[in-house]
Amino acid sequence: MTMNRRSFIKLMGAVTGAGLAGAPMISSAAEILPKKGRRVVVVGGGYGGSIVAKYIRMNDPSIEVVLIDRDKTYISCPFSNLVIGGSRKLDENKITREGLASHHGVKLVYDEVTAVDTAAKKVVMSGGTLSYDRLVLSPGIDFRFDEIEGYDAVETPKVIPHAWKAGPQTLLLRKQLEDMTAGGTVVLSIPVTPFRCPPGPYERISQIAWFLKNNKPGSKIIALDANPDIVSKKGLFLKGWKKHYEGMVEYRPANKVIKVDAGKRSVDTGVEEIAGAVVNLIPPQKAGLIAHVAGVVGEDKKWCPVNQVTFESTIAKDVHIIGDAAIAGAMPKSGYSANSQAKVCALNIVQLMNDKELIDPSHVNVCYSYLTDKEAVTVAAVYKVAEGKTIAVPNSGGVSPDLSELEAIYGKSWIKNILAEMST
Ligand SMILES: Cc1cc2nc3c(=O)[nH]c(=O)nc-3n(C[C@H](O)[C@H](O)[C@H](O)COP(=O)(O)OP(=O)(O)OC[C@H]3O[C@@H](n4cnc5c(N)ncnc54)[C@H](O)[C@@H]3O)c2cc1C
Repeated sequence: MTMNRRSFIKLMGAVTGAGLAGAPMISSAAEILPKKGRRVVVVGGGYGGSIVAKYIRMNDPSIEVVLIDRDKTYISCPFSNLVIGGSRKLDENKITREGLASHHGVKLVYDEVTAVDTAAKKVVMSGGTLSYDRLVLSPGIDFRFDEIEGYDAVETPKVIPHAWKAGPQTLLLRKQLEDMTAGGTVVLSIPVTPFRCPPGPYERISQIAWFLKNNKPGSKIIALDANPDIVSKKGLFLKGWKKHYEGMVEYRPANKVIKVDAGKRSVDTGVEEIAGAVVNLIPPQKAGLIAHVAGVVGEDKKWCPVNQVTFESTIAKDVHIIGDAAIAGAMPKSGYSANSQAKVCALNIVQLMNDKELIDPSHVNVCYSYLTDKEAVTVAAVYKVAEGKTIAVPNSGGVSPDLSELEAIYGKSWIKNILAEMST
């Protein structure tokens, strides 16, 4: 094996003198960090995982928390559409989690989790194994590429980016837009729900339109939506497209892409094959692969059923799942939801580990979407658990009354704060 980032384990924070920082491969049979007291292992240090790790330590510092992520730098999907539109730099979306180690004593491991033994209560990484008392999975999403004929998981996104995991894919889509000839057509396809960030594709349409309007006169977007209608903030998106992008956005509901041809840069709905100068195919989604490997995905073979109060899997004991991977009733798959679920999950894990009564959840979610560089809209709701189900509290939220420059300012404050919360 080459000495890439996966062949290193880096333990930080409270790990001292173990000689593990930057250490090369450790045999997979070895316990890289022998468990002495009570331990929670968290897999995935994104919107859900970073917060659950931090809040367990804040609620009970006597519990050891190990946070594992394959990447040392986390790149936020929220606000990545603005990178595609051109009003934000991808670097502004990047954080590290060293602050969780130095401020809260979270132990950080950078490695890929390849297996979970829920009976033996161990996670397996390329660099070794770790035992746990409780495990939290917050692995985000993976794609159901196999549902699109002709889609090669490795090769297709090199030509037809999804940009639904922020990073190189975001930059590739941006570059393709920069390189296209003025007057060309961008084709964007939206998968069936549920997917990560319900308003995200419509914000993506807006940001691409913003870029085209300013840089590629005469260009247009054809948006093929597998759903029967715009999934979120419909009236506001339609209003924004009319106000800013009249004649540029051709929205086609109930148009599911079933086939792709990267060579021809085209997608096919079974009724029509449509080629574009740039094609942005957002594939259908499922819980992050490790949830499937761990055996905590439900009968739908896509998402993880959980107890709505503790986020403990209904399939495997002492395993909790939060964020996009979990089935969380009426809550959308968003970063804000993952953050809220993480806090509830952390609190109730600490209650469970201290034999104390569970606490009833109250969640909140707000999703900002930018129509231009300066105008945004939001959808917000408060959630509670009633008869075991997570429901929206009636009349607790709603959408912005109109397109708003103020919402755009609030949104920038939100992203700054939530990324700071995840990294310090
Ligand atoms: C374009 C776009 C715009 C969005 N805009 C918004 C928005 O404005 N507001 C909002 O609230 N949400 C938004 N979202 C949704 C948001 O990104 C997700 O809902 C959120 O990231 C979910 O958090 P998570 O913890 O479940 O997963 P993630 O944040 O994706 O974190 C998962 C982590 O797990 C790690 N991981 C996975 N598997 C393994 C493994 N086997 N071993 C080691 N590490 C692993 C990954 O490296 C990653 O760091 C947007 C999404 C997109 C695509």
